[in-house]
Amino acid sequence: MAAILVKDVVKFYGSTPALRGLSFEVPEGERYALLGPNGAGKTTTLRLLAGLLKPDAGVVRVLGKDPVEDYEVKRYIGYLPEDATPYLALTVRENLEYIAALRGLDDPRDRVEKVMDLLGLRKYERYRVSALSRGNVQRLAIALAIIHEPKVLLLDEPLNYLDIPTQEEVVSVLSKMNATFLVSTHIMSVAGRLTDNIVMISNGRLIWQGTFEDLRKMAHEEEPIESVVARMMRSVGP
Ligand code: ADP
Repeated sequence: MAAILVKDVVKFYGSTPALRGLSFEVPEGERYALLGPNGAGKTTTLRLLAGLLKPDAGVVRVLGKDPVEDYEVKRYIGYLPEDATPYLALTVRENLEYIAALRGLDDPRDRVEKVMDLLGLRKYERYRVSALSRGNVQRLAIALAIIHEPKVLLLDEPLNYLDIPTQEEVVSVLSKMNATFLVSTHIMSVAGRLTDNIVMISNGRLIWQGTFEDLRKMAHEEEPIESVVARMMRSVGP
């Protein structure tokens, strides 16, 4: 069974089409990057999979379930929105404890301690979010997205705002997770380090799907992979 299924999905915002018949699947345990230029429909796709939006047409399934209708499946989904903002007036620890409680985890205390260590947040545990650097807010947002050890992880630009050493830490933490990944990014190096496969979309439609290896084979001599992607996106127009 595919962990993620998007089939013939159409989504409009008012009269603006965001997805125009998008289809792809992510098999269980696989790691896929969702690539595309600004406005391609990446965030919309992740929000549909997180159960925050309903498609106007087509089918969206996570672990075989409809993420809008099926409350049970939400337990297994971790979603990191772009520019995620934890509760500003709460401390790092309070944010984690609150989300652990809301999620009804069996062992909330253990999970909070574990995820604080994983993301290097212990030294900030008593800081209010409003006093954190943007990079540390992002670390907390990632901690909140993975505190329940989700089976399906939907990440929107996960390494935004992180300095290079922190990016390395976060890539290492995420890579060790036993989950199906769909990572939206426009930075190829991020995609290449977190995932093995690519779904490329433009203008709300699938334009290419394959592995990083396939993409490298399409490069002209010495051509960087970013340039191959840009060429493919240009070839289908805006
Ligand atoms: P991406 O994440 O790839 O940049 P989005 O999913 O955010 O793409 O957006 C896809 C399209 O839908 C764009 O044309 C965008 O302007 C439009 N769009 C996204 N969100 C809204 C919204 N809340 N209201 C109106 N249009 C939107």
